[in-house]
Amino acid sequence: MRALPASVLVVCGLIASACGGTGTGGAAAGQAAPATAAEQTAAEQTPAKQSPPDAKPLEGKVVVIDPGHNGGNYRDPKAVNRMVNVLTKWKPCDTTGTATNSGYSEAAFTWDVSKRLVKILEARGATVKLTRAGNNGVGPCITERAAIGNRAHANAAISIHGDGSAPANHGFHVIMPKKIKGPVDKVVAASSRLGIDVRDAFAKGTGLPYSTYVGRDALDYRNDLGGLNLSTVPKIFIECGNMRNAAEAAKFQDPSFRQKIAVALANGLQHYLKA
Ligand SMILES: [Zn+2]
Repeated sequence: MRALPASVLVVCGLIASACGGTGTGGAAAGQAAPATAAEQTAAEQTPAKQSPPDAKPLEGKVVVIDPGHNGGNYRDPKAVNRMVNVLTKWKPCDTTGTATNSGYSEAAFTWDVSKRLVKILEARGATVKLTRAGNNGVGPCITERAAIGNRAHANAAISIHGDGSAPANHGFHVIMPKKIKGPVDKVVAASSRLGIDVRDAFAKGTGLPYSTYVGRDALDYRNDLGGLNLSTVPKIFIECGNMRNAAEAAKFQDPSFRQKIAVALANGLQHYLKA
């Protein structure tokens, strides 16, 4: 069971690149016969325009991925409910997160998406760190999740979540930090740029709509999240959708859709990191 996602990923990756390569070539060859001279010239120029692909576009970049919650959090309420200082208030160290009606947990969802995202970013040359090592443990606290990004001097950090709202609510939103007269202030502007890049790539890549119930155009700014308040590197949260909404729950429970989410997040991060 555990070994499956990795092998599935490899297969998906191979299929994706194979389809892209042969599909394009096949179509071009099929259309070659009736082409006019002008079209032929254009066709001949196409490969040249595709300058050697940048195999490692994220070489030298450090990304920290924070899969929200942890699968074992429910086992240790004392540790999880311990109050921590997030500068604007005191909050529990972490929470259990939400789940779909059929019991697929947010912690499992964020862990799976994060592992997929690690593979994609590493393949593009990035150095990637996760804030937790599996989905059977407890924590870490939100304070530590922020500290991991800070210690890594991440060029970008992202905390991945699925929301648990009223069933009729749907769509995704990105959360960015606000100035709080604290250390996060210096990365508020950069985090906002990161958030917009991820918002755009996520909408394009997943087809999910902007949240119908939070923020404006899927963008929300908050000063009560420890993971953001305590960050000294550009950081955002994404609520990928509403796990209590039947249609979005079904999508999140589909591994191929989670891959789509991971690719979209990678593209958003890359757009920001290459800008
Ligand atoms: Zn969450």
